[in-house]
Amino acid sequence: MLNLMLIRNQLYIDGKWVDGNGKVPVFDPSNGEVITEVATAGDSECDAAVAAAHKAFPAWAKTAPRVRAEILRKAFELMIAESENIAKLISMENGKVLSDAKGEVAYAAEFFRWFSEEAVRIAGDFRHAPSGDKRILVTHQPIGVSLLITPWNFPAGMATRKIGPALAAGCTVILKPAIETPLTALAIVDILERAGVPQGVVNVVMPTPAGPAVSKMLHDSRVVNLSFTGSTEVGRVLLKEASDRVIRCSMELGGNAPFIVLEDADIDEAVKGLMLAKMRNGGAACTAANRIYVSRKISQKFTESFSKAMGALKMAPGMSEGAQLGASVSVKERNKIAELVDAAVKSGGKIEVGGKVPDGIGAFYPATVLTVEKSNEILKHEIFGPVAPIVEFDSDHEAIELANESEFGLISYVYSKDVKRAIQVSEALQSGMVAINRGLISDPAAPFGGVKQSGLGREGGFDGIHEFLETKYLGIEI
Ligand code: NAP
Repeated sequence: MLNLMLIRNQLYIDGKWVDGNGKVPVFDPSNGEVITEVATAGDSECDAAVAAAHKAFPAWAKTAPRVRAEILRKAFELMIAESENIAKLISMENGKVLSDAKGEVAYAAEFFRWFSEEAVRIAGDFRHAPSGDKRILVTHQPIGVSLLITPWNFPAGMATRKIGPALAAGCTVILKPAIETPLTALAIVDILERAGVPQGVVNVVMPTPAGPAVSKMLHDSRVVNLSFTGSTEVGRVLLKEASDRVIRCSMELGGNAPFIVLEDADIDEAVKGLMLAKMRNGGAACTAANRIYVSRKISQKFTESFSKAMGALKMAPGMSEGAQLGASVSVKERNKIAELVDAAVKSGGKIEVGGKVPDGIGAFYPATVLTVEKSNEILKHEIFGPVAPIVEFDSDHEAIELANESEFGLISYVYSKDVKRAIQVSEALQSGMVAINRGLISDPAAPFGGVKQSGLGREGGFDGIHEFLETKYLGIEI
């Protein structure tokens, strides 16, 4: 049973839990029931959050890195201690199965631990100028008040991946979680409060609709940094907004990952990897394999084996015993998935398994495998659900060309027993990350991010903290 104390449903501004200008329901997408109502923020609440973050910034920036580190470390420990409850909350408001939610909590908590370790290692540089006329001192300072905007698909991981480095760097933040899944973000802020984060350093607002309020904050001179994770469509709008004041932007946007299975791949391993790359989070991941390119020489065997594994998954409410595929976040999202499949079939795609909206309540869509031609429109869309279109190719060169035929460039997957060949293909792929013979590579210790229209900047690893730091050069007369 979920500890009801964990469900926070107010805004958090200047160290206080407060009501806003209204309330909206948060639904359990597996049955359509209302979990609770959550406070929404109007202009005055958003302004108060910005003011609080602005007021708290000088003291937090000067707080000893060790102290900032220990608060983050404490938050990590609390999150691990409470992981069972947080996982249930994620499953309840997002729909994903409990095992995925538990995995997300472990991943999310790790960002607090990793950045507690990074907080005390913000290095600079001291050099002799080549001309010998001065010394070059390079230092890194916290940027300032940062607006963090997160999506619904990883309500814990996307929040800590931003809050961790921001606080480690000495920035103060306003977090705006997705309106479908605000409860997890609020639970995490409750943990940060208990871990000792000072008043005003972390604030959370849920303005609805998001657009006008976010625009106002981006035009407020006290806000100097934007860290956004979400769709490329909204990312483009925010980049335009941010350009008015030329503020720093870190953008983690959409993906449409190719999954390439070369003719010499271990088919069983590739199927296992694809089950993870496609089905983690029910396919609602920016890293989800969405375009499955398989060598014609092995495609029949591969498709049979993969379709069998997909067809065997148990679809059920996320928290029910043995569930392997939960609900999508909403009926609206589920319907988008169904429309993409129907259109793919109309243009010649063949359903190998799944492909039919089930009767009954809940935003469910079954695990679906399609075989399609390389020109099928479905390959142009980020599917964000449990649907895998398979395309055959005839050469490594063709696989690379097909994979790169996309406006996105977040992650790619390559399977081959020949590591040299896999590396050669990986180096030709236009994506910020490549998984070789693995279905999952996200790691708080590694730089996560994309090229092309999948975004700007990196989160995690040694790079993540620099999204919240400004480089300053001091030239010293000697
Ligand atoms: P979304 O529609 O872009 O929303 C993301 C966030 O932006 C939400 O908090 C949303 O608020 C807010 N938002 C929406 N319209 C806005 C506007 N006009 N101005 C300001 N803020 C606005 O994305 P989503 O459907 O939640 O998430 C799925 C997308 O996220 C996919 O494209 C996925 O690939 C991407 N994603 C990328 C990564 C990565 O690391 N690259 C990771 C996870 C997800 P409301 O909820 O209140 O509308």
